[in-house]
Amino acid sequence: MLKIGCHLSSSKGFLSMAETAAKINGNTFQFFTRNPRGGKAKALDQEDVDAYLKRAKELGIGPIVAHAPYTLNACGAEERVREFALETMADDLSRMEHLPGNYYNFHPGSHVKQGTETGICLIADTLNTVLKPGQRTTVLLETMAGKGSEVGGRFEELREILDRVELPDQMGVCLDTCHVWDAGYDIAGHLDEVLTEFDQVIGLHRLKAIHLNDSRNPLGARKDRHAKIGEGFIGAEALARVVRHPALRDLPFVLETPNELDGYEREIAFFRETCG
Ligand code: FE
Ligand code: FE
Ligand code: ZN
Repeated sequence: MLKIGCHLSSSKGFLSMAETAAKINGNTFQFFTRNPRGGKAKALDQEDVDAYLKRAKELGIGPIVAHAPYTLNACGAEERVREFALETMADDLSRMEHLPGNYYNFHPGSHVKQGTETGICLIADTLNTVLKPGQRTTVLLETMAGKGSEVGGRFEELREILDRVELPDQMGVCLDTCHVWDAGYDIAGHLDEVLTEFDQVIGLHRLKAIHLNDSRNPLGARKDRHAKIGEGFIGAEALARVVRHPALRDLPFVLETPNELDGYEREIAFFRETCG
């Protein structure tokens, strides 16, 4: 069965997210590990986690995707920025061990004039500090739109990070359809070619999740503005082809479109109807 869901607010805890996901016909979801602008995470409520694990099993929910705060920059130019990224990721990953077998997605970062190579090395250094043998969470590098000095707009850059990680089995990639489109990969007109390129550069076995978004901008715009499904330049039919693609259809799909719950419910229904 198609694994699809959306980004949800984590303010009411894990059990509540599972119930909300199920209410809109989702069987996966994504959440921010803490306030997306950074800051301290609430203490993990073990009772809530236990109740979630039981309910998620009943509802057939999971794997789920935790998203690191998007302000986190593992390759920032200032030491304290990198330090914050490292501490946040280490703390998030230790919390995720309470929900083993899920994903932790993060934006590789922005190199802010240090150059892509330096950025890649700093990101890999961070991963080599926070990844511990035996951890049961897979850390995902998100494909980026390549705006500003973002690292991860090219598949080659993600490959170079992965090449430098000492525990590569704990790593994967999350492909964001809006981001790759904005980065210049034509998933609407040439999906097979883009996936072949992904396979040759990174390896499709590394692809663990898809962020399913339309884009408010044309191919290669390097902007990163998400649109509702069918209201952007990628289009609903092209996104349905992404979901139906034999190389992708077993992955979890997470909508990050500008919607309230009713809008997410309609988009989930659309993909369930068109893609089975
Ligand atoms: Fe993201
Ligand atoms: Fe995304
Ligand atoms: Zn985005």
